[in-house]
Amino acid sequence: MGASTPKQFSKLLGVPLLIHTIRAFRQVPELGAIIVVAPAEHQELTCALLAHYQLSDHCTVVSGGRLRQDSVRIGLALVASGSPLVVVHDAARPLITPADIQRCLKTAASHGAAILAVPVKDTLKAVAADAAIHHTVEREGLWQAQTPQVIRTDLLKAAFARADQDGFVGTDEASLLEHGGWPVMVVQGSGTNLKITRPDDLLIAEALLMQKQAAPKMRIGHGFDAHRLVVGRPLILGGLTIPHELGLLGHSDADVLTHALCDAILGAIGAGDIGRHFPDSDPQYQGISSIRLLAQVIDLAAAKCFHLANADLTVVAERPKLASYFPAMQTILAKACRVEPAAINLKASTTEKMGYTGREEGISAHAVVLMGESAGGVVDNGFAME
Ligand code: MG
Repeated sequence: MGASTPKQFSKLLGVPLLIHTIRAFRQVPELGAIIVVAPAEHQELTCALLAHYQLSDHCTVVSGGRLRQDSVRIGLALVASGSPLVVVHDAARPLITPADIQRCLKTAASHGAAILAVPVKDTLKAVAADAAIHHTVEREGLWQAQTPQVIRTDLLKAAFARADQDGFVGTDEASLLEHGGWPVMVVQGSGTNLKITRPDDLLIAEALLMQKQAAPKMRIGHGFDAHRLVVGRPLILGGLTIPHELGLLGHSDADVLTHALCDAILGAIGAGDIGRHFPDSDPQYQGISSIRLLAQVIDLAAAKCFHLANADLTVVAERPKLASYFPAMQTILAKACRVEPAAINLKASTTEKMGYTGREEGISAHAVVLMGESAGGVVDNGFAME
């Protein structure tokens, strides 16, 4: 690929191949732990990427060996006893679909071993070292092996033992089983399960991903919050400290507007509410800037492949007048949400002296957001590898 890091770290629409690949496997509920076998010199980068995309909890990272066979042996040793099937997949095949993974799982469960493959469609030539065609290879019955390769755990262990005993080296797991005489089924896959090998493969993969994005999924969310006004606290709204004789009471900085926005985003991505992610009882959130919580909520949404399309926010306060502070608040909120300021609309309202906001006992805020699906991650959420 002409890059200094291996191809599995190349970016596809801003997100590393490895992350696209792991996200596809995370969508298959039948699967348990994911073991990432990465080159020893890229362990740190791999761990940092998984942490950045909030995948660390689901993955174990281990250093690989010299050959694919060595790396798979190392990964296999970490598979929990009692796992009926092992799925081996190339990180450089990021367009694998959950449906194709599931079809391989099903066939392997009934036949012991199954790999995704496609029939050869081009005419194959055997070519001599001087570039002259030696002969045409009969393509009838020829298939190109892809991954995943799904194999019963005990069978794969037996195949490795047999290969080690015979000093046999295969280029995929199926060949180890073939060597030992165990049958392996093919499951017909699709040409879109590209293995990214050359820079032009990345262009094709990007085109395929963008087509998926042409009809992005949208999700709506609503948030509401209210905090009490007291003396002796600063008034912080949308990350901005606003001069006022009263401030909002709360465990964090009590930024009621930012809390409503966080709740709306969490609601849209089906991730509960702010109290679940940043509990009042946890001392690490004592006095914390709510803008930092908002940035974490955006990270969580990015991990689920969602970005903020737009937000409409309303602060309900009898006093002070807020309109002149809106441009600064908009800038702060947009930065935390990694969007253009125009994506954040701010409004203020009073309740005409009625109720708790009217009596200036507190301030409340409403937020409505639209979140767009990033189809494997069109939004580069800022992980710098260089
Ligand atoms: Mg709150």
